Amino acid sequence: DKLKAGLEKTRKSFTEKIEQLIVGYATIDDEFLDDLEAVLLSADVGVPTTAKLMAEIRKGIKSKEINSPDDLTPFLQTKISAMLIGEPEPAAAPPEPPTVMLIVGVNGVGKTTTIGKLANYYREAGKKVLIAAADTFRAAAIDQLEIWGKRTGSDIIKHDEGSDPAAVAFDAVQAAKARKADIVIIDTAGRLHTKSNLMEELKKINRVIAREIPAAPHETLLVLDATTGQNAINQAKLFGDAVKLSGVVLTKLDGTAKGGVIIAIKNELGLPVKWVGVGEGINDLRPFVASEFAAALFT
Ligand code: GDP
Repeated sequence: DKLKAGLEKTRKSFTEKIEQLIVGYATIDDEFLDDLEAVLLSADVGVPTTAKLMAEIRKGIKSKEINSPDDLTPFLQTKISAMLIGEPEPAAAPPEPPTVMLIVGVNGVGKTTTIGKLANYYREAGKKVLIAAADTFRAAAIDQLEIWGKRTGSDIIKHDEGSDPAAVAFDAVQAAKARKADIVIIDTAGRLHTKSNLMEELKKINRVIAREIPAAPHETLLVLDATTGQNAINQAKLFGDAVKLSGVVLTKLDGTAKGGVIIAIKNELGLPVKWVGVGEGINDLRPFVASEFAAALFT
């Protein structure tokens, strides 16, 4: 399927290298462990997460859960799966509609496309969707969202280029309440060269929405581009300082060998990956299921 196909390059850089290692070694020795560490690092799993996995493996060897290189694949699959799932979250009562989703991330990561795909996903689930074009900095983003709005049958709220993004968000939430929309998806700017302005802008949008709907935004999703590997981690730290993130959308998983960054995002930042982008098409967005990802990575 598409998730598996999307993970092809990551699987090649990760699983196939691990398999080659396993074939090349009869027993687990220090050299084997060093080589394994190098494989994990080269798949963009990241230094802290690699260290954690290596510690687990050493524990597994000690406890005789791992007796030979062959035991490694199932062991890693279980550990990576567990690492990605983390502590189960308490089931929250579904909010009164509209559910407000704020979408943040730097330009070029696939934010606009992701909003289109999300709108399509919720529309197909029978929801009434409203898109807010609150990246008023880029006229092209407003135009793109309008196209996505038409394609997905979603309402769109937009103001002129250069207008106040928080005013767009305010209008969108008002309109969503009046029109009884189920989901409001708010685009935001992603120009990093005026970083502090952007972060203030995001905070203001948050304040304005929360005034209208006390629990909103119900989701603040950070869009990250998987092809940027460890850079994605730095972006997550930056945005995490300004807004309370609820999860990550990892795009362009189909084009990269750096899919291991998913494990780092969860382990280093405690942020759940909620969606993955596996192509440019309208249907190429998948809810992220940790066990499916781990299985697709290893089989
Ligand atoms: P934005 O600047 O963050 O709004 O980025 P866009 O949504 O305009 O996307 C930038 C480029 O990335 C476009 O060419 C998209 O088609 C492409 N893109 C977005 N998501 C994915 C994905 O999951 N896979 C692939 N291969 N391309 C993607």
